[in-house]
Amino acid sequence: MLKTHTCGELRASDAGKAVTLSGWVNRRRDHGGLIFLDLRDRFGITQVTISDDSELDLPNAANPSNGSGNSSSCTQAHEVASQVRSEFVVRVNGSVQKRPEGFENPELDTGEIEVIASELEILSEARTPPFVISGSQGDEVDEAVRLKYRYLDLRRPKLAENMRLRHEIVRFIRNYFYERDFLEVETPILLKSTPEGARDFVVPSRIHAGRFYALPQSPQQMKQLLMIAGFERYFQIARCFRDEDLRADRQPEFTQLDLEMSFVEAADIMALIEEMLIKLSAKISDKPVQQTPFPVMSYDEAMAKYGIDRPDIRFGLQLFEVTDLVRNSQFGVFKNAVAAGGIVKGVLFPQGADLSRKEIDGLIEYVKPYGAKGLAWIGLTGEAAADGTYPAESLRSPIIKFLGKEEIAGIVSASDARRGDLILLVADEEGVTNPALANLRLEIGARTDLISSDLLAFCWVVDFPLLEYDRDEDRWGAIHHPFTSARDEDWSILEQRPADVKAKAYDIVLNGWEIGGGSIRIHRSDQQMRMFQRLGLSESEVDEQFGHMLEAFQYGAPPHGGIAMGIERVVALFADAQSIREVMAFPKTATGTDLLLEAPSLVEDEQLAELHIAVREQEESAK
Ligand code: ASP
Repeated sequence: MLKTHTCGELRASDAGKAVTLSGWVNRRRDHGGLIFLDLRDRFGITQVTISDDSELDLPNAANPSNGSGNSSSCTQAHEVASQVRSEFVVRVNGSVQKRPEGFENPELDTGEIEVIASELEILSEARTPPFVISGSQGDEVDEAVRLKYRYLDLRRPKLAENMRLRHEIVRFIRNYFYERDFLEVETPILLKSTPEGARDFVVPSRIHAGRFYALPQSPQQMKQLLMIAGFERYFQIARCFRDEDLRADRQPEFTQLDLEMSFVEAADIMALIEEMLIKLSAKISDKPVQQTPFPVMSYDEAMAKYGIDRPDIRFGLQLFEVTDLVRNSQFGVFKNAVAAGGIVKGVLFPQGADLSRKEIDGLIEYVKPYGAKGLAWIGLTGEAAADGTYPAESLRSPIIKFLGKEEIAGIVSASDARRGDLILLVADEEGVTNPALANLRLEIGARTDLISSDLLAFCWVVDFPLLEYDRDEDRWGAIHHPFTSARDEDWSILEQRPADVKAKAYDIVLNGWEIGGGSIRIHRSDQQMRMFQRLGLSESEVDEQFGHMLEAFQYGAPPHGGIAMGIERVVALFADAQSIREVMAFPKTATGTDLLLEAPSLVEDEQLAELHIAVREQEESAK
């Protein structure tokens, strides 16, 4: 037998038992006559003690009835132990002994005992690993090395724990939906294009020359078809594939909890998910949920107060707008931005009025990436005069000379600044001002310790716009996907005022991360056709890409809706992981490369020929 117990199992009450353990050598300490091995398996670590003589009069596992010791086997074990190194795989026969008083190790579950070895066998030798496996070291190791030796990285306690947590979360989710009569259905991986706003990965067909499958960006169409099939409550832990441009913390393939229900409204789905998240949080995390029921915020409100549609509401520091106040300002930066159709908004840096000039200038780094050209600032160093305006000595700012007294008083009041605070303002088009300030707000929150890492702040964002104008393509695109329904009252303005149409869509946000989103779908073919037309698809394009959906809607489609949640993001948030790569067994790099398998890779010419594919020379040599 290779093991009678795991390395995490033995306790003081097992003292005297003959056992066999197998695992990896986590650490070896050689004290000459005594060698200690910390033996590790998935379940824990047990100390194994190997002596070079038979003084320790102990039974051994091979012959449990023999309590008289066995000097030759002890010597054998000691000889073997002196050869083993970290990460060797070994098997130990021995007996459990309570550790002498004062030698217990409270850090280990098995810390009350040790196993006195009578026999040791090397099952597999190990090269010196490229990084230390035991303990919590290793974070400083280059991630490329960790990814190349992922199977070693997964041995480290942190990643192993993340994978265990992921398993717990997925198990909880599955049970939650099984208990509520959901049917788990697997949908195809070889599919046709499913639009979720990214590029498809395509797979060439050998049998059908020149034809391609697409990997699903999500099972969106399949789950809707399952509703038409009458399944009513579907879920799946589904793999999704999106060929997106490089962005930190994106992965070309990832996992979603995907679900769809019939005969429901948005509130039904939101309630179901909310209950799941509250229960999951209680089970998985020690952190309290900030507020239940989860706050529900409209998209417009989220943009106004936080500049972003996934607000981190663990802290305040809401943005404020002063566009109207500065419309006729003498300060050209403000005036011109407003004249050009932009907005002027700001955020407070609490007690930041005394930041050094260098520190204030440094804050520009947090707005620049979004296209903001600058940051205007006003430090409130003193009090207002009796008439409510601020004398120059109460302010510290390079722009007060351009601003009227009323204007300054108005800005201070809109910002709700107190003495000692720093007001930071951005004047630009909305698409620049909002994300720039949203990012700056997060930075200020972090610097002023306002963001608690011990809180789970969920919120819903609803009433998203249905469409957004794509300037490059000069057409309207779906914000969510083309199957999302407009609000009932907005169907009448779909053609004339597309920008004003709101969707029956909802996103669930946790600590500033969008962890999921969904919508009530269109279930009538006439409305779906109108939507496709609104998106600028020609009749033949609709027919070619979505004819099956329109046809299916003609055979009795129930009203339906659903949601999908990103499993990696949820796990990463619960694990306090810095990246979703930390909660995936075999992730790819940010550039989509698998460093372990070295994929993507070239394939044989014959294979390409069979697939009817010719790779252009130029591209091949560039590889
Ligand atoms: N399929 C959508 C997505 O992946 C979610 C949904 O609408 O259910 O984002």
